[in-house]
Amino acid sequence: MSEIVVLGGINMDLVVRVPHVPRPGETVQGGGVQRFSGGKGANQAVAAARLGASVALIGQVGADAFGEELLAGLDGEAVAVSCVRRLPDHPTGVALISVADDGQNAIVVAPGANMIWDDVATSWVEAALSGCRVLVANLEVPSAIVARAISVARQQGVQVILNPAPWRRGDEHLLRAADLVVPNQVEAAQALGLDPERVTDWTAIGKQLAESTGARVVLTLGADGALLVRHTEVTRVPPFSVAVEDTTAAGDAFVGGLAVAVLQGRGLPEAVRFANACGALAVTQAGAQPSLPDRLAVERLLAGSD
Ligand code: ADP
Repeated sequence: MSEIVVLGGINMDLVVRVPHVPRPGETVQGGGVQRFSGGKGANQAVAAARLGASVALIGQVGADAFGEELLAGLDGEAVAVSCVRRLPDHPTGVALISVADDGQNAIVVAPGANMIWDDVATSWVEAALSGCRVLVANLEVPSAIVARAISVARQQGVQVILNPAPWRRGDEHLLRAADLVVPNQVEAAQALGLDPERVTDWTAIGKQLAESTGARVVLTLGADGALLVRHTEVTRVPPFSVAVEDTTAAGDAFVGGLAVAVLQGRGLPEAVRFANACGALAVTQAGAQPSLPDRLAVERLLAGSD
C-alpha cells in the first residue's frame, strides 16, 4: 500500500541532436540517439519517491524492450510498479525529440499504450487507490480514466492533485473534481480558452481558474515561483534563486514535491514553498529524471533560505 499514487504517462524519450530542426520534407543528419526515461506520470512518481514518500504509479506500457527498461528504472527508484499494466498489442509511449544547436527543439509524442485503457484498467485503478492518501493525476492518459480515479479517490477521502498537462479541451470537468489544480502558465491560460502569449496578469488568471473550478489553484510561474489561490485569496510564493542549467521537468519536480508536502500535512503556503524548492533544484541540473532532487538537497535549500 502506497501513501501517494500517481496516474499518468510513461514514455521513453529518444533524443537526437541536429544542426537545425528539419523543415517539412527535409532530412537532417543527426548525432547519436540517447534514451531517457520520461512521461509526466513516471517523472512525478520518481520526484515524490526521491523525497522519501512511498509511491505507486498507475500507467500502461507495451510488452516490449522500452517498457521493460522503463519499469526496471522505476523499480530502481523504489516506485511500486505492480499497477503498471503491460499491454501485449500496443507499443510503449515514445517521445521523439530533436534538439537543435541553437536550442530550438521539435517533439513528437507517440503515446501508444498510455492512451489505450479498457474496463479491466478501471478496476485496476480502484484497487491501486485503496489505502493511499494523495492521488496525483496528469492528462497524458485518457480523460475517462482520470475522471474515474478522481471519483474513487474522493469517495475514499484521498486528496486529489490534478496537473492538467498537457491541456486538453473538454477536460474542464476534471478541474472541477480536483482538490488542488496545479497548472503552469500555458496550461492555465489554455484551460480558460485564452492564448498564453496574450496574458499579462497571471494573478487574474489564477483567480479566474479558482473561481470557475471551485478548486484551490497553484499556478507555477517558472523563475517567478508560484501563486496559491484559495477562493479569492491570492498568495504569491517567491522562487528560490538558483543557477539555471536546464528547465526540463521543473514542473514535475514541483508537482511531486507538492504531493509529498501535502501528505506530510504541511499547510498550503508552506507546501508550495517546499515545491518551489524542488522545482528550483530541478533546473540546476540537466535532464528530466536525473535532475529530480532528493530530500536532503531540498531540506538544505529550505534551511539556507531561512
Ligand atoms: P513547467 O516546467 O511545467 O513549465 P514552470 O516552468 O512553471 O513549470 O516551473 C515549475 C516550478 O519550478 C516553478 O513554479 C518554480 O518553483 C520552479 N522553477 C522553474 N524555473 C525556475 C527558475 N529559473 N528558478 C527558480 N525556480 C524555478
